[in-house]
Amino acid sequence: QFESVGFIGLGNMGFRMASNLMKAGYKMAVHDVNCNVMKMFSDMGVPTKETPFEVAEASDVVITMLPSSSHVLDVYNGPNGLLQGGNSVRPQLLIDSSTIDPQTSRNISAAVSNCILKEKKDSWENPVMLDAPVSGGVLAAEAGTLTFMVGGSEDAYQAAKPLFLSMGKNTIYCGGAGNGAAAKICNNLTMAVSMLGVSEALTLGQSLGISASTLTKILNSSSARCWSSDSYNPVPGVMEGVPASRNYGGGFASKLMAKDLNLALASAKEVGVDCPLTSQAQDIYAKLCENGHDSKDFSCVFQHYYGGKDE
Ligand code: NAD
Repeated sequence: QFESVGFIGLGNMGFRMASNLMKAGYKMAVHDVNCNVMKMFSDMGVPTKETPFEVAEASDVVITMLPSSSHVLDVYNGPNGLLQGGNSVRPQLLIDSSTIDPQTSRNISAAVSNCILKEKKDSWENPVMLDAPVSGGVLAAEAGTLTFMVGGSEDAYQAAKPLFLSMGKNTIYCGGAGNGAAAKICNNLTMAVSMLGVSEALTLGQSLGISASTLTKILNSSSARCWSSDSYNPVPGVMEGVPASRNYGGGFASKLMAKDLNLALASAKEVGVDCPLTSQAQDIYAKLCENGHDSKDFSCVFQHYYGGKDE
């Protein structure tokens, strides 16, 4: 249904996602504020545009993959933004895959559905926005195995599914606008708290005389087993191929985790839910960032907060 796809935000994730869409045969137009990455795309023969508005003018669907809520608001509502045309826009569908707060997603979705389409197509009267954050990280973005959690109209979700499946292998429909964003921040707060729990247990265990490898085997065959213990272990030497085995390089940066915990806390405050563990995790990740570990993978909490020992 969609032939031309615009992509805005060609960073660690977006670069790889846009590349997979190109491989799937979509006609692309791209934009990023970083001129170097724009040059890489123009060298590959992809039209690069100076503004989000120019991307919108060239596309049936536009995907954004930006650092945070303020960047997404800027790209949608700023001067030369996607909605700069006032009421009338070219793309039928606008998809935001950035991790942002559900309220901002809902506000943008409402603004989009108040616009009309320049050219009405099929049954689409108005443009539609989907929030479709991803889990899986840079490796999954590269391999095209991301999971998309999607909020917004179910019809639009069905129409967008082939696009998601060009960049990922799982899509989950989460309900109305903002629900994809809500799912993502809940996933990440769980991941932060479980990483802290595993790091704390492995630190205490080693101090009590049991090696991290042995304790990990026990956690992984007992009720404490979780992704942080069995797939992303934070202790150097316990698992191969994880950030802990390469000095916490690559992976999911602590600063992104700190950002996501802030989003979770802000959302919790808005709806009046008390989240003491999220709050404590946020303090810990903020300290890690202040101490210069902001670009290291978030599992570095084992080494740089608990002061854990290598195997
Ligand atoms: P990144 O910082 O590598 O890339 C963001 C890109 O957006 C950069 O190229 C930047 O130049 C561009 N950009 C910033 N402001 C812009 C603007 N106003 N107009 C156009 N381009 C602009 O970030 P990333 O790691 O690709 O993450 C993107 C989003 O995906 C974030 O919300 C992040 O939380 C989420 N995410 C990241 C991962 C991961 O492992 N890196 C995993 C899941 C989700």
